[in-house]
Amino acid sequence: MVVDTDAHQGSGTNSILSEDPNVFTYSIHVGRSFPTSKVEGSMDVETVRYVEGEMYLNQLFTTLAAALDVFSPDLVLWVSGADNHRNDRKGQMMLDLKDFMKRDEVILRAFLGNRIPVAILYGGGYNRQPEYTATIHRNTIATAAKVARQFGR
Ligand SMILES: [Zn+2]
Repeated sequence: MVVDTDAHQGSGTNSILSEDPNVFTYSIHVGRSFPTSKVEGSMDVETVRYVEGEMYLNQLFTTLAAALDVFSPDLVLWVSGADNHRNDRKGQMMLDLKDFMKRDEVILRAFLGNRIPVAILYGGGYNRQPEYTATIHRNTIATAAKVARQFGR
């Protein structure tokens, strides 16, 4: 399973994997944004432009739960993404650092809590303050380490 929470659709992933019934692709992204022509994946969730954190997290959690109702992954490749931050130049989302930490913790608990391994891949990040991109990625890894410890990994 590929879980893509970068602010842009995982159109390349969808193109590569669309014919493979063994892979489920999930992407949550701004609907009216780059890439302008989307490639259909197993589950594509479109947010409004400049979506606030609470609305984004609600959409993410309900649709990811729905994805896990229909697909049981052996392995998750998670493209985490840092361009959902409110100061990002390209992401067009309004998440703050607390929203990212909630996102990361819930995603990691959903999979690690069910003994499903997760490989984390960095996604985009074009923050007006570049150190934020590094901080967001760093926080994701720290949250992964914390959640993994909680589940005895
Ligand atoms: Zn992106």
